[in-house]
Amino acid sequence: MPIPTELVGSLPRPMKLQEAYEAYDQGDITWEQLQEQQDAAAEDSIRRLESETGETYVTDGEQRESSFATYPLTHTLAGTGLAPNLAGDGQFFAIFDDGHHRQLPRLTGGPFQYQTYAAEFVEKNKAIASRPVKQAVIAPSMLMLLYPLHEEIEGYSREQFLSDLVDECEKDIRKCFDAGAVRVSVDFTEGRLANKNDERNPWTGQDMLQDFIDLNNRVMARFSPEERRNIGIHTCPGGDMDSVHSKDVPYEKLLNHMFKINAGYFLIQCSSEEDRESVYRLCGENSREDAEGVPQVCFMGVVNPLSPEVETPEQIKDQLVTAAKYIPVERLGATDDCGFSPFSRDEKPKHGSPDFARDIAMQKIANRVEGARMASEELGV
Ligand SMILES: [Zn+2]
Repeated sequence: MPIPTELVGSLPRPMKLQEAYEAYDQGDITWEQLQEQQDAAAEDSIRRLESETGETYVTDGEQRESSFATYPLTHTLAGTGLAPNLAGDGQFFAIFDDGHHRQLPRLTGGPFQYQTYAAEFVEKNKAIASRPVKQAVIAPSMLMLLYPLHEEIEGYSREQFLSDLVDECEKDIRKCFDAGAVRVSVDFTEGRLANKNDERNPWTGQDMLQDFIDLNNRVMARFSPEERRNIGIHTCPGGDMDSVHSKDVPYEKLLNHMFKINAGYFLIQCSSEEDRESVYRLCGENSREDAEGVPQVCFMGVVNPLSPEVETPEQIKDQLVTAAKYIPVERLGATDDCGFSPFSRDEKPKHGSPDFARDIAMQKIANRVEGARMASEELGV
């Protein structure tokens, strides 16, 4: 079988859509008017992926989501349309290398429930797409950070919250499949960040990686091996405003543990690493032929969404041929290092504008598809 390819999920939102989010925050347009703009950008994403890239699975580029992490909870990053039992002043999710940060809401009481399930997007995308649809969802390990780090919420214990959270994450994934998604990947950007020990961001110094893995496995355990073949985990050092949050954390601290999550495939940032071969080796050594009944396929990142420089198909082919020295080729795939814009407000500063970054993203994806085809040919698969 040729080397499969798959995108992580997000694409830059057109500036027009970013301005519409802003206008909604200001009360200048209604939720229905914002949704019209989201739907138009989503349709454009799908049409362009289908006509310009040859991508196997298409997404709406997360145009309808406040972010990859907050879509279940709030309409916008500023907190317009925030779900009940949440306040806007939660802990930092991440502080990025360029100094900007992103913050999570704070849980104020129970029960915890999603306001929006990702299946809502799948349903709309299925009506537009002529290719199979994939959907990214957020990991329970990210949303466990909604609960205050060192306090118990009166009347709603941490244990009860985690139990409700696992139920909600299972429901989020299951509803995507029921709505017709053929692949569902779980965003796990907090995995590498868990070893950062950034004193400005207290949760990163709490040694939480094993807790994250255990919680994700509570969700995985709800699915059969056949279902888990099509459930992925995405890891990266962040990718927002063309900046990262945890690339300085040694990758082995994550990769020596991450494959204990019983997912069927992994979307792994790699092309922006200085020493790619050591990443291939770590993935080859740690990924499993049998993860509770399912082989783990390593989709290696071969393009960098934070850089406007477009990788050539030849460069991508070379990366994959090298990766195949370390990872069995039947368990090798190709992806992007991250989504192209995980947060709805992202001006893509290194690109000059989100609209230009959208054009660049299409070229990068097209070259990934072509590079994977060339590598498959060279490797005889
Ligand atoms: Zn990412």
